[in-house]
Amino acid sequence: MGKTAIPSVFPAEGTYELSTLHVNLSCAAPHAVIRYTTDGTEPTSNSLVYHREAGLIPVKHTDGVESVTIRAFAQADGLQPSDTVAFTYRFACRPKGVFRHSLLREPSDTVAGLIRIEDFDLDRMYLIIGQKRAALIDAGWDYDGDLPALCHALTGGLPVDLLIAHGHPDHVAQAGKFIEYGCKVYAPYADKSMKQLDCGLDFTHIEDLKGGMRFDLGGTVLQIYATPGHTPGSVVVLDENTGDLFASDSFGSNRREIPDSAWLQLSGYSLESCLRSLEAFLDAAGNKCKRIFTGHNAEMMDAQQYLSTLRKAMHNAVDNGAACLSPSLRSAAESFGSGSIAVEGDWRHDPIWAAANLQFLYDVDTQQDPPRYAPGFDPKIKTIL
Ligand SMILES: [Zn+2]
Repeated sequence: MGKTAIPSVFPAEGTYELSTLHVNLSCAAPHAVIRYTTDGTEPTSNSLVYHREAGLIPVKHTDGVESVTIRAFAQADGLQPSDTVAFTYRFACRPKGVFRHSLLREPSDTVAGLIRIEDFDLDRMYLIIGQKRAALIDAGWDYDGDLPALCHALTGGLPVDLLIAHGHPDHVAQAGKFIEYGCKVYAPYADKSMKQLDCGLDFTHIEDLKGGMRFDLGGTVLQIYATPGHTPGSVVVLDENTGDLFASDSFGSNRREIPDSAWLQLSGYSLESCLRSLEAFLDAAGNKCKRIFTGHNAEMMDAQQYLSTLRKAMHNAVDNGAACLSPSLRSAAESFGSGSIAVEGDWRHDPIWAAANLQFLYDVDTQQDPPRYAPGFDPKIKTIL
């Protein structure tokens, strides 16, 4: 009797600058049952069975835990069990109070400079440097450290405006420091009353940020577009000169370490409303966008490809309802209660893949009266996946 193929894994074992990873076990032998442990013990025929439908295996950095080892073996019918293999994930979490920056483009007479800044949580902020002023998109999740001082130093002392593209806590933390510094701070007033994930911003010294506003940095004008969906007040920022689109969380992200866009819709907007919001933006400015910089992707993506892939995923869900469902890559508990997503592309090897969360497809849409559901969508799916 031959042996079953050993399990393989994605992402590869190694050291990650993250506190949580989601690990996909799989095996080249079709229908093999994979059993695994995460506590260091040898897996046996009584160990947990890996069910992709239940979400990937979360491995987490917690106090005192700097690495997690998954041990697994596979067994297919009529074959002997495979050897046991081990995959070790180490966590090298970044310290608070330190912002890492990288210069993506030097400013010149014709284009704005561009610097990416990351905090301990790997939230991405973008500093756009014009000839007379600079603008920072979003303010991260780190209350320690001094981001306005860093921006001041990076721009050689130009005035810096802070544009908070939506009011979630991982995008606003340094806002108070910018106010203390005397910078102008803008954030969407429409996010003041968010029921979920209250941002805790003091709006007294903050000006409203909404669609139609323009920021002249000298040689570069940033245009603001309203893209309600992720939050009521969500906006995106477009540098029409370069085609750079700074999307914060408006259009999700597709980073592999958080493998789905579970948080794409959070605020009482149906998927259908989110799709309309995306399509309205594409109608207004889609052809001007070249690159998209999201709040959570490590690198920029081709804006046309990503936005059209995302649109396809959302359209598929809205048009076909339950027929397009995939199990979520994360567990339901870690996907804000929804285990169902629509996916375009394979997150493991397509650089441009996108996912749309179905959680709100059948929830009451506060923006739409009466709420509409996708044809043939079965609300029961909410409880079975
Ligand atoms: Zn957000």
